[in-house]
Amino acid sequence: MNYELVIGLETHVELSTESKIFCSCGGHSAANEPNDCVCPACSGMPGMLPVMNKKVVELAVTAGLMLNCEISRYTTFDKKNYYYPDLPCAYQITQLNHPICTNGTVHLKTSKGERDVRIKQIHMEEDAGKLVHSGNFSYVDFNRTSVPLIEIVTQPDFRSAEEVVTYLSKLKSMFRSGGISECEEGAMRCDVNISVRPEGSEEFGVRTEIKNMSSFEAIEKAINYEAQRHIDALEYETEELVQETRRFDDASGKTFAMRNKETEADYRYFPDANLMPIIIDDEWLEEIKKNKPVAIDDKADKYREEGISEKEIDMILQSQKIGTLLDETIALGCNPKDTAAWILTDCAGILRKDGKTMEDLSVTPEKLSSIIKMVESGSINRNAGKKILIAVVESNVDPVEYCKAQGLDKKVDTAAIGAVLDSVLAANEQAVADYKGGKVKAFQALFGACMRELKGAGDPQMIKEALEEKLK
Ligand code: ADP
Ligand code: MG
Ligand code: ZN
Repeated sequence: MNYELVIGLETHVELSTESKIFCSCGGHSAANEPNDCVCPACSGMPGMLPVMNKKVVELAVTAGLMLNCEISRYTTFDKKNYYYPDLPCAYQITQLNHPICTNGTVHLKTSKGERDVRIKQIHMEEDAGKLVHSGNFSYVDFNRTSVPLIEIVTQPDFRSAEEVVTYLSKLKSMFRSGGISECEEGAMRCDVNISVRPEGSEEFGVRTEIKNMSSFEAIEKAINYEAQRHIDALEYETEELVQETRRFDDASGKTFAMRNKETEADYRYFPDANLMPIIIDDEWLEEIKKNKPVAIDDKADKYREEGISEKEIDMILQSQKIGTLLDETIALGCNPKDTAAWILTDCAGILRKDGKTMEDLSVTPEKLSSIIKMVESGSINRNAGKKILIAVVESNVDPVEYCKAQGLDKKVDTAAIGAVLDSVLAANEQAVADYKGGKVKAFQALFGACMRELKGAGDPQMIKEALEEKLK
């Protein structure tokens, strides 16, 4: 019999905020040593009260808008109770009854065609700490406790591992380019729910949940292994399928049972009376909408129209930093396609040589555009531009001053240009007469002759103006 794969995802994304969700400790990345970023509130000291971080709400709403969700105007927090050493309060603050976003969609394009995956909800919650096991001891690091997360829950709409990975890559691009999350290693974690059913059947099969996956490659392997295990169980009665939580072991490429799936009742959820309901009024929602970054599909279309290649578009959408530098440099009047090449080929190459990544790039749009314009206008050639760029990337010099100091501009004195123009005009009497007689086209011929005579020296704009002046 043929089976159809059914998958639903619960994806946890760590938000890029400066502080934790309910206290003023620095976010996860601010920590250097274990327990660097810990205060009485996030380490669960008795009587400490949580205070909501407004930015978390704004990022969660922005994520919801990106995923076409309905935004709840009334949203509340609940306590999810369980005991574990990395959870100092013995409950996690999360959202059960009134999550911040519901009913969204994500549009996917895969090799099998296009489809929409439905988002059931997005809720805000705090992360737990980390246990570190070493020899006979276990240590607990609370740096990550109360780091803000959003959890994005889909309907069971995926039908293949390819769709899952396409979805996750899209979330990653959206969230990175939109400043929601850097989605770096471990900051985006997925629980993968899987079942299979005979093709054509409407009913869902028994599902298992593979917990805490972060690499796309492992997710794909885990899905394929688990799907086959389900199919074997149904087809050959190799084992009885039960609803349970499993973990994926990368070394063996297999999944193993961890525990029976908890039900909601196991967690004794109840409303968190320490946190007021959050009301999102029209004014606040409008403000968040106004600041919402352009959707990546729209951005990609725009770059495509500007002649930027698919590969470059992918790279641009992976990083808010690159996207901003590109957009701002283009806004200063540079050609989009050239600018993309200057950033993604030239800057990237210089950084790579120094053992750095694009995230280390600190060139400003002003400096970059000044180099690009010098090249575009012909006042320096591309090689000279590249030399200046290296000095800007490595030592943050001023491009114009550096260019002069290094003698990289083709030295053209205006008197020499004037002499060339005079000789060209003298040699083209007919064209001059035509132009003066109203034949505008003759100007191009004269201008072309000047450019040829000057062999690429000088700024074309300046030459054009000088020529116009002389023809008056
Ligand atoms: P729970 O409350 O047990 O976590 P949810 O209804 O929240 O269950 O669903 C959790 C995830 O499991 C969702 O992403 C959902 O799409 C997915 N899911 C539910 N039923 C199935 C199924 N039969 N097969 C695959 N995924 C499923
Ligand atoms: Mg769930
Ligand atoms: Zn704290």
